[in-house]
Amino acid sequence: MSVTSDPSAGISDEQRAIVEMVRQFTDEQILPRAGHYDHEDEFPEPIVEQMRELGLFGVTIPEEYGGMGLDLTTYAMIVEQLSRGWISISGIINTHFIGSYLLLKFGSEEQRERLLPRMATGEIRAAFSLSEPELGSDVAAIKTSAKRLESGDWEINGQKMWVTNGLRSGLVFVLVRTDPSAEPKHRGLTCFIAEKEPGAASNPGLSVPPQIHKLGYKGVESTELVFDGFRTPADSILGGEESGLGRGFAQMMDALEVGRVNVAARGVGIAQRALELALRYSQQRVTFGKPICEHQAIQFKLADMVTQVEAARLLMLRAARLKDAGERSDMEAGMAKLFASEAGRFCVEEAFRIHGGYGYSEEYEIERLYRDAPLLLIGEGTSEIQRMLIGRKVLERNPL
Ligand SMILES: Cc1cc2nc3c(=O)[nH]c(=O)nc-3n(C[C@H](O)[C@H](O)[C@H](O)COP(=O)(O)OP(=O)(O)OC[C@H]3O[C@@H](n4cnc5c(N)ncnc54)[C@H](O)[C@@H]3O)c2cc1C
Repeated sequence: MSVTSDPSAGISDEQRAIVEMVRQFTDEQILPRAGHYDHEDEFPEPIVEQMRELGLFGVTIPEEYGGMGLDLTTYAMIVEQLSRGWISISGIINTHFIGSYLLLKFGSEEQRERLLPRMATGEIRAAFSLSEPELGSDVAAIKTSAKRLESGDWEINGQKMWVTNGLRSGLVFVLVRTDPSAEPKHRGLTCFIAEKEPGAASNPGLSVPPQIHKLGYKGVESTELVFDGFRTPADSILGGEESGLGRGFAQMMDALEVGRVNVAARGVGIAQRALELALRYSQQRVTFGKPICEHQAIQFKLADMVTQVEAARLLMLRAARLKDAGERSDMEAGMAKLFASEAGRFCVEEAFRIHGGYGYSEEYEIERLYRDAPLLLIGEGTSEIQRMLIGRKVLERNPL
């Protein structure tokens, strides 16, 4: 159903064709099956297999490494479509996308050549891990540490929390403390590429406890990671020891900027789906002798929803296009993430109200969206953190 403007306006024919292909894939393969996988909290392996075949794990990986070499804007439009279907699907590729971004921007040539071709096909998938049981927003306070051994290898110890794709991933881009005395604290952080056996709960020095049970965002696992004497070579430091040691915080913050555009795209996708469901239901349900869409109170809800969807999409596309053009987009990515995730929550709640009692039934799709939408307010920086960041940036750009 086309209920808002064409998000692909102004892009090339090739990009348009890919977004259209993903839209169809979402309609035919994701939407009809998402309810089942969500209610069973089951990993959607057949859908993921099809995504591998479509090349979706390599969308932004350059062709020389076996990917499609597309830009962030196209990726964001793809994520919008997948999230319209089910945000857990976009969660499966998002941490992978961040991992490939980190490798492309900061990895050594050896790391890129060794890992990117297998990442492009989805043969190995990536997770990224900042959060710990005692911290999420305050990344500079990370406690998990790595120390250099006499052999030149490094040993990681500590506990990570909320690792999306923590079990099935083969690579974890993990931020740890390598210099406990560094001031300011964030200068003592380094990003390692920890390699592990996909799907194995127990690896030498690294265990993956059973997945965390969640309100929504089901199907894709969120886990802790317990590093206990995990040994990894010096060349597993992102970019190599010489250029990567102590640079992890800046690298991860850069990656979070594109991650925020991605979360914005998820917000647009879920808001768009909520709008579609609300439009359909409000034209079918009759009260007081007419479809509820003819009551002004319901029309006002639809009006607010469609406006939010359009505005969120424009912010998301603007942030992505600035980043693709190599321009500053830190504040824009923050604004897009803040607005679109709040728009997702708003539209889902309005659609839920429009469904009346049926919205509370597991038989209606809006029930799943109602449980999924709040994640977007939290992941990759909460709304409060986005506001802090935007406030700081707007002052920085406008000194007296
Ligand atoms: C399903 C799920 C998947 C996730 N996946 C990943 C992942 O793959 N990798 C990863 O590293 N992390 C992941 N996370 C973690 C997520 O990034 C954090 O939960 C998030 O950053 C918030 O951190 P926190 O939970 O520690 O909350 P806290 O930082 O403890 O914040 C608690 C509250 O205080 C507010 N707050 C904190 N500091 C301030 C301040 N200075 N001013 C005003 N308000 C403040 C916050 O906005 C929030 O409302 C995931 C989380 C969830 C729920």
